[in-house]
Amino acid sequence: MIIMDTRIREFEKIKIQKYIPELDLLNNPVLNAQEKEFLAELYEFMEKELDPEFIKLEDLNYLVEEPTQDKKREIVVGIMKKLSEKGYYSTILNTEGYEVGRITRNALIAYAICGGRWSEFSERYIAGNYSVEMGRLAGGTLYCNPVNYASDDAQKEQFLIPVARDGQIGASAMTEFNAGSDIFRMELALQERDDMIVAKGKKLFITNGMIADFIVLYGRLNNGQLAAVVVDTKNQQLKNFRSTRVRTYGMTDAFVSRLIFDRVELPKESLLKGHGLDIAFHQLTEERLVISAEALGDTMKKLLYSHAYALQRRQFERRLHQYQVIRFPISRKIRELNLLISALIQYVRQLDKHPELAGSKLMAANTMGLKISTTELGFESAIHCFRTMGGRGFTRQYANEIGLFDPYCMVHGGGSNYVLEDSESRRFFKYKPPRREFEDTIPKIDY
Ligand SMILES: Cc1cc2nc3c(=O)[nH]c(=O)nc-3n(C[C@H](O)[C@H](O)[C@H](O)COP(=O)(O)OP(=O)(O)OC[C@H]3O[C@@H](n4cnc5c(N)ncnc54)[C@H](O)[C@@H]3O)c2cc1C
Repeated sequence: MIIMDTRIREFEKIKIQKYIPELDLLNNPVLNAQEKEFLAELYEFMEKELDPEFIKLEDLNYLVEEPTQDKKREIVVGIMKKLSEKGYYSTILNTEGYEVGRITRNALIAYAICGGRWSEFSERYIAGNYSVEMGRLAGGTLYCNPVNYASDDAQKEQFLIPVARDGQIGASAMTEFNAGSDIFRMELALQERDDMIVAKGKKLFITNGMIADFIVLYGRLNNGQLAAVVVDTKNQQLKNFRSTRVRTYGMTDAFVSRLIFDRVELPKESLLKGHGLDIAFHQLTEERLVISAEALGDTMKKLLYSHAYALQRRQFERRLHQYQVIRFPISRKIRELNLLISALIQYVRQLDKHPELAGSKLMAANTMGLKISTTELGFESAIHCFRTMGGRGFTRQYANEIGLFDPYCMVHGGGSNYVLEDSESRRFFKYKPPRREFEDTIPKIDY
């Protein structure tokens, strides 16, 4: 069989050549010396260890005739292992030996992996990969944090250590066909029998689902209460369990999956202690901050590409950047990006300093606001990049390279922005109706 690379040879690679200090987090005055040191080391690791793997992943997108899924799986599993060896996968166990706090590190890692960076060493842009970061978030945070929160020592040994320390793949399974934004409607049954739990139901849109070694699975116990169990997928060979890929047009390396539990028998010890929603929500503030960091890193990437293309491309005898309609949105978004980065850094530092803030409703609300603003900024920056690219933005070749569709999904991931905005605005306008005696003093007008 002839393997066909679908790339158009006439299309040149977009060359990001010019260093823009405003788009370099290492140059941002808001970071302190320790944070910069942590970040510099991380960027070096990315360039040496991750970038060759990211390039392999991208190249596989163009071989339409060839099944690429297994190759991608191997690369992604290898990347998570590499990340975990350096303490970059989950930060839940690594609380000592770092001058930079756990949540600040989690956010900086997310920013770096999504955004990539101009490398002075090799004088080229190291692109990063948003969907690999989504996989890191799903395994390292959305799986590890709830398991750490609600497990006893034996469960930690069995379920947490293999993922948090050894870099095996974790996933978090909440969403169902009828329970999307409205997760209270979850239907998956966790039937308690003598010494086991039998899981029956389906899950949808589960990041890492088909490559996961362990899944934290949310569902309903016999009494109707929401609960969480840990599923050891036995290397995806678990009896009566099936996982298939959902074909998405962005986030192509995040292995977003559909899962079927057709009476899967699990030992009783896999049940985590506590209410399912409390287990799922206790790490919400951290999740929102990491999602914000991802979106900001990705915004930076989109702005770099828009900027580079605007410098390179000539139409009507001028470079695109000479047209204000192209130039203005780029500079406006650079401004917004840096404002939101400072908010993010403030929040993650505060949360590291005062871990009790993880339970603060106001902190949760503020980070929700940040999540909405950052993911919308990422979304808009992608749309703007798409416009700047003209017809080329429509080709796989450029859309993949820039990850043009990745930020589209994050206005839904981690709580849809519409749902969050609706609840936010309702909270602002919550009020007690005026008391009767006041009402009597309001003059009645006949119309
Ligand atoms: C790439 C990707 C990865 C994901 N990974 C995971 C994962 O690892 N684990 C997991 O459990 N889930 C995951 N999800 C699922 C994600 O959390 C859901 O997509 C999300 O909760 C929205 O649910 P839905 O898609 O069913 O949309 P729906 O709930 O059907 O919503 C449709 C639209 O209606 C809006 N809407 C709904 N209710 C309201 C309301 N009350 N007010 C205003 N607007 C409303 C929504 O904002 C949305 O725009 C992932 C999704 C994607 C796209």
